[in-house]
Formats: sequence, structure tokens, C-alpha cells
Amino acid sequence: MKKKLSVIIPCYNEEQVINETYKRVVEVMNGIDYDYELVFINDGSRDKTLQLLKDLVSENPKVKVINFSRNFGHQCAVSAGIGNCTGDYAAIIDADLQDPPAVIVDMLRIMEKENANVVYGVRNKREGESFFKKITAKMFYRFLNKMSEVKFPVDTGDFRLIDRKIIENFKSLKENNKYIRGLISWMGYKQCPCYYDREERFAGETKYPLKKMINFALIGIFYFSKKPLQLPLILGIASIFIGILYALFLIVYAFFTPGTDIMLMNLILMSVVLFSGLLLFVIGLLGKYLGNMFDEVKNRPEYIIDEKINF
Ligand code: UDP
Ligand code: MG
Repeated sequence: MKKKLSVIIPCYNEEQVINETYKRVVEVMNGIDYDYELVFINDGSRDKTLQLLKDLVSENPKVKVINFSRNFGHQCAVSAGIGNCTGDYAAIIDADLQDPPAVIVDMLRIMEKENANVVYGVRNKREGESFFKKITAKMFYRFLNKMSEVKFPVDTGDFRLIDRKIIENFKSLKENNKYIRGLISWMGYKQCPCYYDREERFAGETKYPLKKMINFALIGIFYFSKKPLQLPLILGIASIFIGILYALFLIVYAFFTPGTDIMLMNLILMSVVLFSGLLLFVIGLLGKYLGNMFDEVKNRPEYIIDEKINF
């Protein structure tokens, strides 16, 4: 029997690219010896995305659609795809054709040849993305690797191929805010890279504005590293040390120069500003962990599905 491949495609306001993406993915599927299904997730789009997806369902019975009740975000959309796909393998790919569908063929080849459980895409080149995005992404992945207890491959997104074992394990993960690429690395098993050139967005504009990008990065850091929590300890020790030196300095100073000095006042003011800043920063960090715990403790579903079409 032929193996089945599920292609998971999250879509948020992608009316300009959906049809082209569908065409290109189906072309690739027709060229390989696998049964397939296309799982589109409509993540609360406000444009014609849902209607276009419904049209695709009536055109091709292999197309399935999950419609969210509102916009829950890219990671939730991918989670829903993984949770509802039926393939032996699942490919996660963006709707905007930045990840070329043809690379899925290479991924399948590596998967079979290496007997791997995950083949993740590594970006050689990134076309058509701002210098700012490229440099911050590069720095972020390296920073996260330093911070985290889990080691991540750098310069990878969610574009990857996973097998049934990974899919089943993923479904058992309970956390609410998922940093999917991190979680899949964390699972272990055999994971192999597949190098590719990331292309320009086919049409439309990015659905990841700076604010979403920062939130996403913070989830990566706070869910995979406890190191920031050690910061108060380090700062505390440092400030005790500085305090002692400062006290010694004052004793010596008072001994040799009686009376007050404007320099001294400035020094005190400076240290008040500096240390209250550090204190607030550390409290902010703690607040971030607390907020994340709050999210998890509430135990709400990650997303709400309005409708499943053709399942
Ligand atoms: N996306 C989504 N929900 C969102 C934001 C994005 O499902 O809230 C989808 C989007 O339609 C695309 C993928 O996630 O298929 C990646 O988004 P985008 O290409 O805008 O991000 P970028 O490549 O610019 O980082
Ligand atoms: Mg994109």
C-alpha cells in the first residue's frame, strides 16, 4: 500500500496566494508515489481565503479545511493541522510559497534514505526579506541556543517533514503556547537537515509584524529556558559586592575629607536609578514567567475550531 503524506498549510488572509500554492503543491504531489491530503487551516482570515478554500474542496476531495473561530496565530494553526492529519508523514509549509513545495520531494528522499523521523528545512539564503528580519532572526536562533537546555538547529523555521511517531507525540503535548520547532527538537528521535533557498513571498505581505515576531521569540525563550530566572541571583550578588566596596570607599572618603560633596550625591543618585532599573527589569522577567504559568494553568483549549470541512 502507498504511504500517505499530509501537507499542512496555515493560512491567514492569503487570498492572493492560495490558488497558486494549491496548484504548485498538487503538481508536486502528482509527481511522487504517495497518497496525499492537503490540510488547510483558515486562521480567522478576514478576506476571501475561506471561500477560496471551500472552492478547492469541491474541486479536489483530497483537500480538507479546518476553520478557526478567530485568528489564533500561526503556531496554533499548525498544531491543529498536526492534530487532525491522517498521513504517515506530514509536511508543514507556509501558504506564501516562501518555502518551495518542490523541496518536500527532497525531504521525503532524505526521510526514507536516512530512516529519519524528522527532516527540517535549513535556510541557505533568504530572498526578499528585510535585512532587519534576517539579522534579528540569525541572532535570535543563536541566542536561544545559548539560553536553552535543548539544542536547536539554527536558521530553521517550521518548514519540515515529520513522521507518525512525531505526530503522535506532538498530540500528547499539553502546553498552551507552543513553540513548535523547539518542541520537535526537544522530542529527540532521528532528525536530519535539508538545505534549501527560501524564496520571496509570492504575493501579499507578511502576517508576522514586529509585535507578533517579538511575542513568538519570547515564547521560544521563556518556554525553553530557565536561565533568566537566575538573573536576580547574579545581580543580587553583584550589587552586594558593589555595596560593600562602596561602603568601604565612603568610610575612607569621610575620614580624609570631612563635609559633603556634590560628586557623592551624584553617585548615590546614579546608583538609585541603576539599581531600581535592574530591580524593575527582574520583576518584569518574573512577571513574564508568571503570565505564562497563568496561561497554562487556565488550561483553555489552544484554539477553537468553528468548522471542519471534508474530514
Ligand atoms: N499565519 C497564520 N496565522 C497568523 C499569521 C500567519 O496562519 O496569525 C500563516 C500565514 O498565512 C503563512 C504562515 O503563517 O502561511 C507564515 O506567515 P508569513 O509568511 O506572513 O510570515 P513570514 O514568512 O513573513 O515570517
Ligand atoms: Mg512568509
